[in-house]
Amino acid sequence: MTVHLHRFDLPEGLTFEGALAVDTETLGLNPFRDRLCLVQLSAGNGTAHLVQFPEPRYDAPRLKSVLADPGLVKIFHYARFDLATLFHHLGVMATPCYCTKIASKLTRTYTDKHGLKDLVKELLGHDLSKQSQSSDWGAPELSDAQQSYAASDVLYLHALKDQLDARLAREGRTELARACFDFLPTRARLDLAGWSGEDIFSH
Ligand code: MN
Repeated sequence: MTVHLHRFDLPEGLTFEGALAVDTETLGLNPFRDRLCLVQLSAGNGTAHLVQFPEPRYDAPRLKSVLADPGLVKIFHYARFDLATLFHHLGVMATPCYCTKIASKLTRTYTDKHGLKDLVKELLGHDLSKQSQSSDWGAPELSDAQQSYAASDVLYLHALKDQLDARLAREGRTELARACFDFLPTRARLDLAGWSGEDIFSH
């Protein structure tokens, strides 16, 4: 795996096509309190691009245009959170999107283990270290361990999508999954608008 670390934006001339794996690291789980520190991107070719925000200066025109590109499917694991934090801090909705966690819930109904580590282990036979998950992502210098952890969160999403797409097709749930992915921006906006703890569809 190759990791490229950038600050405040992607470098000029870097382009992606087709599908792009995306993940974020923040100071915590509350977008109103906890700032966005890192955005990880991978084209699924073993290379990860990390865009670090050592301070909350979120101009990043090149990153924003990649995230908002309507011709580029953004693959997330638990898109609901990433969409909300990206929208809140960068002001862009990263659509169209695909969520490996939703795809897993719609197909792997024999388990309640839908974490990225569980998926990578079962579907790809690879052990993913989650050691640096809780660490100081706001630090001015990210350690090598933090960088490889952050990269590993986007390096397997294309392969997972391939496997999960096959299962969705097998179970006749491709269209249902698509409809769920299309709703995710609305779900993220509901979270940011004050309905994060509530399912407005429940009785
Ligand atoms: Mn992550």
